[in-house]
Amino acid sequence: MAKTNTGSVNRFYKIDGDKATRLKKDCPRCGKGVFMAEHKDRLSCGKCGFTEFSKKDNTKAA
Ligand SMILES: [Zn+2]
Repeated sequence: MAKTNTGSVNRFYKIDGDKATRLKKDCPRCGKGVFMAEHKDRLSCGKCGFTEFSKKDNTKAA
């Protein structure tokens, strides 16, 4: 994999109506440049299969 060295980090936010949502998150396993696919309550990496559940709505224990 080629290294990406643009020198500056863009803020990946999308303004959607009156909401600002995070556009993409990098996979913690694959690193920068590999983005997680967004699902309703989780993120998943299509490359390595890593899944990260949303943390902000985790008040109820299942
Ligand atoms: Zn990954």
